[in-house]
Amino acid sequence: MPWRIAPSERKAGVLPDPYRVWLSEVMLQQTTVATVKEYFLRFTARWPTVADLAAAEDADVMGEWAGLGYYARARNLLKCARAVVSDRGGQFPADYDALLKLPGIGPYTAAAVSSIAFDLPHTVLDGNVERVMARLHNIHTPLPDAKPELMQEAEALTPEVRPGDYAQAVMDLGATICTPRSPACGICPWRDPCVSRQQGTASDLPRKLPKKAKPVRHGVVFLGQREDGAWLLETRPEKGLLGGMLGWPGSEWRDISDPLQDTAPPCEAEWRMLDAQVRHTFTHFHLVLQVRTAWLPADATPDRGSFREPETFRPSDLPTVMRKAFDLTRQTP
Ligand code: SF4
Repeated sequence: MPWRIAPSERKAGVLPDPYRVWLSEVMLQQTTVATVKEYFLRFTARWPTVADLAAAEDADVMGEWAGLGYYARARNLLKCARAVVSDRGGQFPADYDALLKLPGIGPYTAAAVSSIAFDLPHTVLDGNVERVMARLHNIHTPLPDAKPELMQEAEALTPEVRPGDYAQAVMDLGATICTPRSPACGICPWRDPCVSRQQGTASDLPRKLPKKAKPVRHGVVFLGQREDGAWLLETRPEKGLLGGMLGWPGSEWRDISDPLQDTAPPCEAEWRMLDAQVRHTFTHFHLVLQVRTAWLPADATPDRGSFREPETFRPSDLPTVMRKAFDLTRQTP
């Protein structure tokens, strides 16, 4: 992984760059390693240091983040980079409590940066470590109630010596050996003390409380293109879902099935509704979006949003749900 240094380097006294550790940990929340790699390489090529990131334009960072989801992370990323530069002389603090005071850094990220970047004995408890602890100690309390117990067990195992290597090793053990479906107990370094392996309960753990069914919300987006090819787009409000991201003008997303109620198009035109709809799932709800398209005249004066010339519009700057609406218009004759 491009944000890692090898144990041999650490043994020789090399420590990883805290900026790269922090960036990777923020990206890895709710996102797979395979997806993060590509984004991480793009971000670090464009903004190699925390000072470079702090000086970046908001829109550029939000654009590079598009597709990674959970966009509050990107807004906090910028706030944190700027706080590190303005309040800490461009250096991340090693101390857990000082890290916690930075924007967007919670207990998990503070522990990860403190242990991985500075080799301090703080305990990281991500989903992989939770699974390993539940199995190692045969804990049947369902998640999320089991978290304090799992944390206690994880803390008891965190060593004073090479805690950074240990933190990464236990996360990797969960990701590659103690996997959710078929743990490879035969090659696991903890196979002897592991209670769930002895009792044959490993595959049932960790237990989880049943998830509530997600509600369905509805909305409409207007994809207007001017005769010269420019698209009508807007930057979404800072607060709320997809805050600060580029998007199509549209309605609020609500539980009613007629999203056009009290939503006016952004501009007078012959709007045409596409037969197909966009479907997208967020953490707490499913979204169904109607898509309306129109050709707009050269002198169009929209009530909201602004035109973006085709040379400066990159569909990859759109968050996934907005990208799906764009792709739908491309597929529809
Ligand atoms: S022995 Fe099996 S269940 Fe136990 S920690 Fe190792 S891989 Fe997981």
